[in-house]
Amino acid sequence: MTRERVVLVTGGNRGIGRAIAERFVAEGFAVAVTARSGEGPEGTLTVRADVTDAASLDAAYTEVEQKLGPVEVVVANAGITKDTLLLRMTEDDFDSVVSTNLGGAFRVVKRAAKGMLRAKWGRVILISSVVGLYGSAGQINYSSSKSALVGFARSLTRELGSRGITANVVAPGFIETDMTAALPDETQADYKKSIPAGRFGAADEVAAAVVWLASDDAAYISGAVIPVDGGLGMGH
Ligand code: NDP
Repeated sequence: MTRERVVLVTGGNRGIGRAIAERFVAEGFAVAVTARSGEGPEGTLTVRADVTDAASLDAAYTEVEQKLGPVEVVVANAGITKDTLLLRMTEDDFDSVVSTNLGGAFRVVKRAAKGMLRAKWGRVILISSVVGLYGSAGQINYSSSKSALVGFARSLTRELGSRGITANVVAPGFIETDMTAALPDETQADYKKSIPAGRFGAADEVAAAVVWLASDDAAYISGAVIPVDGGLGMGH
């Protein structure tokens, strides 16, 4: 890398997003994170945004451009779950998860595309999930939003691939964060049994894949789904 590239990570105040931001800082990127509350890690610029609200995201994005320069790497990470079985799932359970996980990616990537086209260089990295391809009882809303990100990245690759822009998906398995801590102990133990690696992953293990996809070494990789799941989703 000849100069400091600017990266924006949504939901960078905790969990996987925070670990991604920390790795980018360590690799010498200029890093901004969006947060609804709290702050990003040391060395990052924190901007306030709710990814379900295009206007707040737009204002935050503009602030990053003004303070750090054109954004060249976007990581759509902010996400939520509202798990319940289909027959109990309300319209709001469905809409809010899709609007955050899929709509949030749409809003931030749309905002980023113009600048990337101008620069003739860009990296879009969407944080999906193993359950987007594997399926998961009680997660119709979440798994649908996550598998849609694969279609998103592949369509974006076809739209912008000739302009120096790549779009890839990272599909984590079970990673130790607040999201998985919320699972009952019994469920956690069951999941561990089905993971070939025999353990949950660390957020930094996801971050390593993300940072690599943003590097010049990954310039010829686009429309790919990179699993970081200890083998859980093999074959899917
Ligand atoms: P956490 O619950 O620890 O963190 C979620 C992050 O998303 C927080 O920063 C949260 O902000 C932010 N966020 C949620 N909704 C919004 C919103 N409307 N606007 C802005 N920010 C929002 O989750 P993880 O770190 O575990 O997950 C990060 C991503 O990785 C998600 O997309 C998740 O689906 C995915 N993933 C996680 C796995 C895991 O095992 N942990 C496995 C596979 C995928 P705030 O603090 O304000 O709530």
